[in-house]
Amino acid sequence: MDLESVRSEVERVIVSEADLQKRLQEIARTIESDYRDKDLLLIGVLKGAVMAMADLARYLNRHVEMDWMAVSSYGSGTKSSGVVRILKDLDKDITGRNVLIVEDIVDTGLTLDWMRTNLESRGAQSVEIFTVLRKPESAMVKVDVKYVGFDIPKDFVIGYGLDFNEKYRNLPFIGVLAKHMYE
Ligand code: 5GP
Repeated sequence: MDLESVRSEVERVIVSEADLQKRLQEIARTIESDYRDKDLLLIGVLKGAVMAMADLARYLNRHVEMDWMAVSSYGSGTKSSGVVRILKDLDKDITGRNVLIVEDIVDTGLTLDWMRTNLESRGAQSVEIFTVLRKPESAMVKVDVKYVGFDIPKDFVIGYGLDFNEKYRNLPFIGVLAKHMYE
């Protein structure tokens, strides 16, 4: 879906499609070199990371495996709850695996902090994090994120997997949702 289709619902575009794709390609090159001679299991966090996973995996010129987890997040509001619940668990055992979590956004950091601890406790060899977006001003816990696409202000954003009431995931860019849409 293009910007024209949602012009009045989006306050501004903060990361364009071109910038997103360029950054993902750069990060893919770094990941290839960091994981040379190692296995790589990408774990996507549903549903927001679907677009990032699809693009990042295709930019990686090497074998990767993919698995998915779904954890509870915002529901229909726009504030972090800090409550993490597994809605869908991994299909496979990750003992001894080099895991890279693929996430859409780090806001308070609560979800990823919990996820990393959870995956490490299952005996993964390594657990690192890739996130498309990070909001440094919103951090409540310090999470060591190895690969960050873009640091952004703490506005509520939509697009490229990120939703508001399940909509806007299919925008190819990241935009700030117009306030009149939720206030
Ligand atoms: P955290 O636990 O870091 O506060 O939040 C993680 C989750 O909250 C993300 O995976 C995402 O689902 C949701 N989230 C945080 N900030 C935003 C935002 O600006 N827009 C949308 N659509 N979701 C967000």
